[in-house]
Amino acid sequence: MEAASAGLVDSHCHLDFPDYEGKLAEVREEMRAHGVTHALCISVNLEGFPKVLGLAEAYDNFFASVGIHPDQEEGGALDPARLVELASHPRVVAIGETGLDYYRATGDLDWQRERFRAHIRAARTCGKPLVIHTRQAAADTLRIMQEEGAAEVGGVMHCFTESLEVAEAAMALGFHISFSGIVTFKNAKALKEVARAVRLDRLLVETDAPYLAPIPHRGKTNQPAWVRHVAEEVARLREVPLEAVAQASTRNFFRLFRGMGSI
Ligand SMILES: [Zn+2]
Ligand SMILES: [Zn+2]
Repeated sequence: MEAASAGLVDSHCHLDFPDYEGKLAEVREEMRAHGVTHALCISVNLEGFPKVLGLAEAYDNFFASVGIHPDQEEGGALDPARLVELASHPRVVAIGETGLDYYRATGDLDWQRERFRAHIRAARTCGKPLVIHTRQAAADTLRIMQEEGAAEVGGVMHCFTESLEVAEAAMALGFHISFSGIVTFKNAKALKEVARAVRLDRLLVETDAPYLAPIPHRGKTNQPAWVRHVAEEVARLREVPLEAVAQASTRNFFRLFRGMGSI
């Protein structure tokens, strides 16, 4: 397989999950074979964070985030100071994943909104960008981002599945839009339109591995190497070479998470 010379970055994966136990060498070899040079390992709770950080400490081309996924109800309130402390490690490049998920969680979700606010406050304190998850909660997500001044640090709307309107509102707050394997699914017609229209300088690609394996691997355990299939589909939709999507999304990734270059 011919690698895109710019290299691709998987901006969101969960390599600390048990799916990859004893398989890391293989996962890294597949990345190389697919021209995927880096991956951001995303934390979903504080108990799992040491393992996520361990990956970023062990390998130069892995980075870590710290945060609590909105589907993790246990743990109660979150002190932003705790996050700021954990995020002070130089291999931690983002706060999240955080956000709102009204699909998986039900009932009184004040705890979710409060915790989202705590993440944004922590991000502003430590000056690191946010990784935001939103599902069936776009209006509240954008409102809280505005109320808490998330634009000050920016970040990414990960695994984007919302409308172009929502994408534009997030981009207006300085956020990036990250596409996952969902964009390769035949029934994702509206999302394909969004992938055509998003600003190239705000576009990222991800796998959300182990979830959401792209076509032609749909249904399997996903892995960072397959972000290539996501990028290929985005390139096809935008009628540009893979190289253009690889170059832009990789440049965007390093500008956002490593402070290299300016917006
Ligand atoms: Zn997510
Ligand atoms: Zn995730």
